[in-house]
Amino acid sequence: MNFGISRDDLAFASEVRAFIAGALPEEIRTKVRSELRLTRAEMTSWQRRLFDQGWVAPAWPRDHGGTGWSLARQYVFKRELGLGFAPDLPAFGLQMIGPVLYTFASQEQKQRYLPGILTGETWWCQGFSEPNAGSDLASLKTRATLDGNHYVVSGQKIWTSLAHLADMMFCLVRTESTPKPQAGLSLLLLDMRSPGVTVRPIITLDGHHHLNEVFLDAVRVPQENLVGEPGRGWTYAKFLLGHERIGIANIPRLRRRFAALLELGAQPNCHGRAALADPAWRRRIADYEIDLKALEATELATLRRAEAGAADAMAASVLKVAGTELLQRADTLLWDLMGAEAAVLPTDAARRESPLAAVRYGVTPALLHGRAASIYGGSNEIQRNIMAGHLFGPAT
Ligand SMILES: Cc1cc2nc3c(=O)[nH]c(=O)nc-3n(C[C@H](O)[C@H](O)[C@H](O)COP(=O)(O)OP(=O)(O)OC[C@H]3O[C@@H](n4cnc5c(N)ncnc54)[C@H](O)[C@@H]3O)c2cc1C
Repeated sequence: MNFGISRDDLAFASEVRAFIAGALPEEIRTKVRSELRLTRAEMTSWQRRLFDQGWVAPAWPRDHGGTGWSLARQYVFKRELGLGFAPDLPAFGLQMIGPVLYTFASQEQKQRYLPGILTGETWWCQGFSEPNAGSDLASLKTRATLDGNHYVVSGQKIWTSLAHLADMMFCLVRTESTPKPQAGLSLLLLDMRSPGVTVRPIITLDGHHHLNEVFLDAVRVPQENLVGEPGRGWTYAKFLLGHERIGIANIPRLRRRFAALLELGAQPNCHGRAALADPAWRRRIADYEIDLKALEATELATLRRAEAGAADAMAASVLKVAGTELLQRADTLLWDLMGAEAAVLPTDAARRESPLAAVRYGVTPALLHGRAASIYGGSNEIQRNIMAGHLFGPAT
């Protein structure tokens, strides 16, 4: 669907497709198609290609190494990457802390950190959530106390994606006890190799290690690693979490799921019948396709409003909830299509056998991991609260 996309941007889409065909190694493409984890080296090599092409940070301003593209062009670019099975680069550097740094950080911090974020040499993780502070993030307890020209940080972070691979953490800490808890928070840039940092893995339902607990025991962080002003961490955190609307619904991923539904639905089952021969199945898959197209139209309408400079406070929540719910619905449909076969967690080798095997065997791990999509990035219940607040006013 190209509703509202200009001819120039469509021509650019062909350029992106040609670039992907030449630059994306087959091994990486196969892994993305099969929902297999990429190594840090593979991710960085792809990021480096995008960097060399000047396309690594579509949303950043040009003078900080971005492209200066319109929102429509960014949309087209992301769509082509997704449909071409290019990996999603970790969001923590490019989409989260990078924009905070070029907007709020000191000149020294920009010079020190932005280049490594752009090339992928420095990997970041997000130290926000704690055992008793997730949705209610402002209640976090990790404390940073000034001692000479260092902050001494003690506390525990949890669900920290990629902490085991990260060089740096942007960490929300309490520097003051204030009546309004948000007011006492600050944002620190913490070197993960510092003495006192312990990273412990959390293995998720899909059998992988993406998540961690991070224990901070009197970690000394130079005062110069404070971002902006002390006590303004909440402002930076809100900026960071709400920064990027384009692509939040991850339509290419949903479209890939649709292609998988058609592919698996055309395969004969153990009774020799293809699901697509069954009107009830055709209807379930058609319902999914209709909702996918509606979401795509909603995303494009959001983009046009944003290009016109209109404020749209609910857009990110609407797209996040609809996108993650459709993802979970697609995975459930795929799982139903697989029947009893879906009960077996496949080996990586089985998933590489053929493009169809990649689809078949990727179903169960994707379904299990997909449960997290309605939790991370602000749970869907919280997004619904935000929408209700905009529509009906704040809860009393
Ligand atoms: C895969 C994954 C990766 C993550 N990566 C990171 C990361 O890299 N860094 C990081 O800091 N955090 C990360 N998180 C943590 C994530 O941000 C939190 O899990 C999320 O904010 C929810 O917090 P919680 O888990 O403490 O659940 P809680 O806040 O305890 O919520 C439990 C349940 O109650 C509901 N609930 C809570 N409050 C309300 C309310 N006011 N109204 C209605 N319902 C409510 C929630 O929606 C949820 O269903 C990750 C989480 C996951 C699953």
